[in-house]
Amino acid sequence: MAEHMDPEEFRSAGHAVVDWIADYWTTLGQRPVTSQDPPGTVVAALPATAPEHGEPIAAVLADMDDIITPRLTHWQHPGFFGYFPANTSGPSVLGDLVSSGLGVQGMLWATAPACTELETVTLDWLADLMGLPERFRSTGPGGGVIQDSASSATLVATLAALHRASKGRWREVGVDRRYRAYTSTHGHSSIEKAVRIAGLGGEGVRPIEVDPVTQALRPAALRAAIEADLAAGEVPAIVVATIGTTSTTAVDPLPEIGAICAEYGVWLHVDAAYAGAAAVCPELRWSHAGVEYADSYCFDPHKWLLTGFDCDAFWVADRGELTEALTVMPEFLRNAATESGAVLDYRDWQVPLGRRFRALKLWFVLRWYGAEGLRAHIRSGVALADRFADRLVADDRFALAAAHPFSLVCFRLRAGDEASAALLARVNASGRVHLTHTRVNGRYTLRLAVGSPLTGPEHVDEAWELLASAATDILAG
Ligand code: PLP
Repeated sequence: MAEHMDPEEFRSAGHAVVDWIADYWTTLGQRPVTSQDPPGTVVAALPATAPEHGEPIAAVLADMDDIITPRLTHWQHPGFFGYFPANTSGPSVLGDLVSSGLGVQGMLWATAPACTELETVTLDWLADLMGLPERFRSTGPGGGVIQDSASSATLVATLAALHRASKGRWREVGVDRRYRAYTSTHGHSSIEKAVRIAGLGGEGVRPIEVDPVTQALRPAALRAAIEADLAAGEVPAIVVATIGTTSTTAVDPLPEIGAICAEYGVWLHVDAAYAGAAAVCPELRWSHAGVEYADSYCFDPHKWLLTGFDCDAFWVADRGELTEALTVMPEFLRNAATESGAVLDYRDWQVPLGRRFRALKLWFVLRWYGAEGLRAHIRSGVALADRFADRLVADDRFALAAAHPFSLVCFRLRAGDEASAALLARVNASGRVHLTHTRVNGRYTLRLAVGSPLTGPEHVDEAWELLASAATDILAG
């Protein structure tokens, strides 16, 4: 029988693994961004059963090289411009490694006190760095917590909103289907999912129309929908406004939306999954005007703030509303610290009971980069997107499809949807870049999102040159 890996074996295998990751990052730009192989290739290359006898880590790394790595989409590749970034960084990986090595379980303050307190401090630091309202700080009635994803943040915000709207009845008897959620037609799909999980059915979400130019939610349409629901005996429970929608990074007008929510006592959750990171730069904080109205707010450091997945930062203005909605206290979790009321138990802020020490990777990132390093990363993404957009607007075969306030540029070929779709297929087939698409005002639109720390001007220029030359071929027929 294979022995447990002793600390000396771990040290040497660990060095090899860190070397492997460093080599991967060094050679990333030479690899195709996406896998070129058909579905089933990895399954076919792996044995049908787990090994009977243990194997050295070197054998696993060899299979990483031969079987796994060539069949990945490389999200850290300098030519990866798809979806939104999911960037990571050296300090994030090292923080996560330490977290794995410690293997603590931070469900209660009492089960790992520093795990909870470091999380409280890092989220207070982040709120400060981003200029978020005072009421989100743990020093007042609110506070921050790390969720696995923005989807989970929206789910727990929805549950807290139902708790509030039902005056606590939700906890005991659930809610009926009269409760309503509102978001723009560009709100993320995770909002409908949260509402479905909360038991309101997909129809519980009212899609609110957007302005055709800005793609942002129209406050007048929100007001009309809330009033119509109230007149019909329905209960408006939550509005989810977005800073940086997934399709185009539109910014919903929070000052107007917040005033409407305040007037009707509706919970306002702000989903800034991607664009929230921009708030570390004072010159981009205009995007957060009105955030003081929010009952809850989230963004993903795992998208654009150099912290590897999974790390969503979620704040509430009143932690009591959230924890009342979610707490359940079985005998086996009772402990003196919880009963003293002097500690935060983050299990009451999320769906699962157990929780990893995720604050470590964020702490490592904040300490390695400092505020100035984080700002430089965001500014570089915005500057590279501007650089790309400048080239695009100088070529009259192309048109911008939306404003580009952050690091996403949406564009199309003026020749139409078919030509634009052909363009995307052709540039992605090059293996040098990876872009994705959406529809804006019904029209096929390419998206180029900058975010990998490895991406520089030369990669954005290469993307532009590939697009321009593919456009020449496509338009020549
Ligand atoms: N909200 C917005 C605006 C997004 O763009 C995304 C993902 O791109 C999400 C939510 C979902 O993020 P997560 O994967 O963290 O759940």
